[in-house]
Amino acid sequence: MTTDPRLAALRDKAFAGDRLSFDDGVYLDRNADLFTLGEMANVVRERKNGNVTYYNVNQHLNPTNVCVYRCNFCAFRSDLKSPKGYVMSDEQILERARNATEKGATELHIVGGLHHLKPYEWYRNIIKIIHDAYPDLHLKAWTAVEWDWFQRLTKRPIRDLLEDMKSVGLGSLPGGGAEIFDPGVRGQLCEHKADASAWLEIHREAHRAGLRSNATMLYGHIETAEHRIDHLIKLRDLQDETGGFQTFIPLAFHPDNTKIANIPKPSGLTDLRTMALSRVMLDNFPHVKAYWVMLTIKIAQVAQSYGADDIDGTVVHEKIYHDAGSDSPQELTVAELRRFITEAGRVPVERDTLYNEVIREPGTKWRAGRKLVMA
Ligand code: SF4
Repeated sequence: MTTDPRLAALRDKAFAGDRLSFDDGVYLDRNADLFTLGEMANVVRERKNGNVTYYNVNQHLNPTNVCVYRCNFCAFRSDLKSPKGYVMSDEQILERARNATEKGATELHIVGGLHHLKPYEWYRNIIKIIHDAYPDLHLKAWTAVEWDWFQRLTKRPIRDLLEDMKSVGLGSLPGGGAEIFDPGVRGQLCEHKADASAWLEIHREAHRAGLRSNATMLYGHIETAEHRIDHLIKLRDLQDETGGFQTFIPLAFHPDNTKIANIPKPSGLTDLRTMALSRVMLDNFPHVKAYWVMLTIKIAQVAQSYGADDIDGTVVHEKIYHDAGSDSPQELTVAELRRFITEAGRVPVERDTLYNEVIREPGTKWRAGRKLVMA
């Protein structure tokens, strides 16, 4: 029980379902103890999603790591001529999609680098060939940074590109590339890539085109409490406008092999505080995810009591955070995911990308069931 009257008032506000302001958020970020923050986040989490934690059966596909940009926090990217660089062939891509389908995946999460020499049509063709061969696989593809790059390559309006990619099989957008919206921080981390207004506009247009998307925030590097809260409020404002976001994913900075490897990686305490703060500030986001690849399985388990109602999926072939030093396994089985959720006292429910319950009956293909809670 807190003895800080302002903190107690903010806790009551969250319990009552009242919206927290920028100043409230900064105060919480700076002053709230972990347990009060967790208590507030858990109330919001259970109000929206009850005792359920969602997971999905998915795989990641990173078709190339060659990238024109040089974000300081990125250990994944490669120069065009570096021996580290790779570009997957159509056959390799289809092989991955076949493998994912055989393993029962409902989703492919597709993101990568912005290759110096690949035209928009190369990215479009990836979606097309996978969708033509495996139409049941939901393709969640290309971060706003990639969409911004497609615009620069083609000079076509973003709406046009979204509709075009949708016509060949795009299912939704992932939430990457948001980092921290503040221009000062962005200038130091990733000065040339899509800025906050471009990121937000691309998601606005995606929602208008009927596509759902996710949102992220990269924390634990050079940002301050004000930057984090400003970031969350910008997302909340867009969600008020469009209602198109499904899930918010706070992403912990991983320093290994990056240009800012001198910054220590965030502690478990920071991970849990950021999770809880995100849950209480984003009162209009249905879901907040503890992405176990970045957080570790142990923190993802605990995070289910600090606001998280989703722990992502089986994953497989994750490169981006493993290149940056993540020592989480490459893959979890469904049985392991369910055990991690059950041990945390929650009820595991498999979802598809759009939060329909997944029904699996022996001898049949998976199918989408009822729409799950989207409070
Ligand atoms: S974060 Fe993305 S855009 Fe930035 S260098 Fe890495 S792959 Fe390229």
